Amino acid sequence: MANIAFIGLGNMGSPMAINLVKAGHQVCVFDLSESAVAQVVAQGATTKASAIECVKNAQFIVSMLPAGKHVEGVYLTAETGLINHIEKGSVVIDSSTIDAATSRKVASALAGQGINFVDAPVSGGVGGAVAGTLSFMVGGSIDEFNQVEPILKTMGKNIFHAGDHGAGQIAKACNNMLLSVLMIGTSEALQLGLANGLDAKVLSNIMSESSGSNWTLDVYNPCPDVMENVPSSNDYKGGFMVDLMAKDLGLAMDTAVDSQSSTPMGALARNLYVMHAASGNGGKDFSSIFNLFNK
Ligand code: NAD
Repeated sequence: MANIAFIGLGNMGSPMAINLVKAGHQVCVFDLSESAVAQVVAQGATTKASAIECVKNAQFIVSMLPAGKHVEGVYLTAETGLINHIEKGSVVIDSSTIDAATSRKVASALAGQGINFVDAPVSGGVGGAVAGTLSFMVGGSIDEFNQVEPILKTMGKNIFHAGDHGAGQIAKACNNMLLSVLMIGTSEALQLGLANGLDAKVLSNIMSESSGSNWTLDVYNPCPDVMENVPSSNDYKGGFMVDLMAKDLGLAMDTAVDSQSSTPMGALARNLYVMHAASGNGGKDFSSIFNLFNK
């Protein structure tokens, strides 16, 4: 069993840290929110006065923070940055969804101090974090991947080695860009059927068994009351927020610009999601884009 420091106990980080505790690891947790820390400590984790204290003696450091500026700040800030306090030979696992450039910058700075790093963003949402069934997309050397795989298996089901540093973030950006395009396409197809007198359940069954079949149609249907236990049948509460999808699509577009890639569908999807968020839907599940096409 390992000594693990866990930084960032939000919607995703809390259940992930709890799964590490349940697997028998010694987990020292830190967050700026005292209540978030208390919740995970109640499940068997320990805490210290600062993230710096937590990372001392930790073999693995997991972070689950909102954006690139937080990750860079936590690790690289002069003097208080964890880079100055993590032991040589330890491994940093950053599971935040951030830009690949920041991941590579942090990886390179840590490597200069003899500290290993992987970017390991996740797919599967809060439900997957609680159930321990997340998918991890890992960027790092094969040695680093082999070091972190057993730890990631206690929080996830599918652990993929995407490539070198930053590759996990690129894989995540590609996946979420595709997901958004599929969700928008599914929404407009269902609305077209409804506007022409079809029953949404009947049309969903037809398309699911035909060439239009896809995940957003088959297991996350955006039309209310076609399926039980999905956000669309619960007033678009829970699930994956529009604001987070808009953020991820911004990362995908930055990636496209950096590599001079053409992503017209992704660009349109980003614009539609940003517009949808600006109309007051930022806190709803991303399947609520269905309502944009409501006649
Ligand atoms: P969140 O906002 O719920 O949690 C972030 C946590 O980080 C907060 O508790 C905050 O207090 C803490 N934090 C911020 N700065 C800190 C610092 N300097 N030191 C210590 N703690 C600090 O976010 P979340 O939903 O848990 O998402 C975390 C990451 O995972 C994001 O990058 C997000 O895009 C990604 N993600 C989220 C989901 C989802 O469904 N929520 C799914 C996949 C990926």
